[in-house]
Amino acid sequence: MSARRPFPWHYYIRSVRTRIFFILLACILTYGAIELYPETFFGKEAIVFGFLCALVLIHSYFRVAPMRHILSRMEALQDQMSHGKKLNLIYQKNEFEIIEEMLSLMEGQLRRQKESYENQLIQSDTILEYIPNAVVIVDKFKNCKQYNLQFEKKFIQGKDVHGVTQAKLWKVFDREEDLLSAFDQALVSKNKFEKNRSNIHGKYFSSVNEYFDIAITPVFDSKDRLSGALGIFHNVTQSKLNEKMRVDFVANVSHEIRTPLTSIKGYSQLLQAHKSKIPENLHGILEKINSNTERLKELFDNLLKLSVIESKREVKKEAFDLAELVALIRSNLKGKYLNKNFEVKVSGDASVYGDRKLLEQVFTNLVDNAIKYSDKGDILIEIESRDGGESNEIVVKDNGPGFSSAEQERIFERFYRIQGQSLHPVEGSGLGLSIVKHILNIHSGSIKASSSEGEGSTFTICLPKIAGC
Ligand code: ADP
Repeated sequence: MSARRPFPWHYYIRSVRTRIFFILLACILTYGAIELYPETFFGKEAIVFGFLCALVLIHSYFRVAPMRHILSRMEALQDQMSHGKKLNLIYQKNEFEIIEEMLSLMEGQLRRQKESYENQLIQSDTILEYIPNAVVIVDKFKNCKQYNLQFEKKFIQGKDVHGVTQAKLWKVFDREEDLLSAFDQALVSKNKFEKNRSNIHGKYFSSVNEYFDIAITPVFDSKDRLSGALGIFHNVTQSKLNEKMRVDFVANVSHEIRTPLTSIKGYSQLLQAHKSKIPENLHGILEKINSNTERLKELFDNLLKLSVIESKREVKKEAFDLAELVALIRSNLKGKYLNKNFEVKVSGDASVYGDRKLLEQVFTNLVDNAIKYSDKGDILIEIESRDGGESNEIVVKDNGPGFSSAEQERIFERFYRIQGQSLHPVEGSGLGLSIVKHILNIHSGSIKASSSEGEGSTFTICLPKIAGC
């Protein structure tokens, strides 16, 4: 290697030039000194020698001065080295040896860093390629900086998505406004603490006829500056299809069973109408047939409702008056509970935003439960709508038997019913509150219950405001 290295002519010429200049200067000065002081005490050679020595000292000082700077930089670098390597440097005899040792240490370190960087790159490329999800990393301008094979196969292949150099995200997802705005939202994050992550569930892409759960998160560089966003697309097509099959199955079964059930109910009502012609000892049996067919019908009605709600991907939202809706529910339930005395009061801001039919079901189930489970003479149900900051809060409160705090979460489970809560057995399928919860979920809302036994119960609903929460 060293044999082939070119001779440093520049450095040589500079150094020779300076020396020749100094020799000339010394000669001129000596000549001048002898001319001015011919009777001098020193010999001519001594004067020349004296001048030359002085010039060599001055020249050396200026040549060595930059070395001071280099050595202090070396010292600073030493601090970043491990203890053993620092010791190696301390034992070097002179400055040039220190510099050489330092350079060879740095060379080794750089080589190792390069190797580890390349290894990491290979590892992350392998992870990215073999991960079953489609992954894309975009820069601040939504250029696709990096993506894996899955992403390319699903969303890029066969499309003209390239800008000047890179694939453009808006060309890849040209009709997916919600997805692009989720990336936009991630790209306005200011720092690691204000990370605008978003999740999109079960998004359908017609180009591939598949469903994806998408997680989008901002990406920051080592200095905490936003450098882009990462999108991970998890394929959920199979589970969506399974869910659809299950929902369809429940819907079909419920539908098939409802038809003969309606017929049984019709015949038992007919028998009830001709009760006088039936022997008295069979009256009880007739009552049981009637009430059980009613129960079965309610159960399958609820199952059907649940499966329909579960299969809904979107809801048709509109703003409507809560007080009006409650008045309608009250009058519907008046017919059902002829022998119960109940009052429903509405207060607060009366407008609600959501699917009117579905929210009617929510409030019907809640008010119906409040009446159904109460043995009180005067049943009071208070519905209050208030501003809950980012969302609207609607509180449904009753003065019924309530339930223990341990039951607060469980009552929303399918088929879960609290036993021995009321003096008289209360009929129900245990599906009413799961329907409520599902309806609120598809509205991106929520519900929570709070109560203590014997002190009534409170259900707090959170519904997104017009722009969504
Ligand atoms: P069900 O069809 O049995 O009424 P729900 O899902 O509506 O089913 O309710 C689940 C259980 O929660 C009920 O069995 C009841 O024990 C309890 N529950 C619901 N609402 C109330 C309420 N307002 N007061 C007391 N208990 C209630």
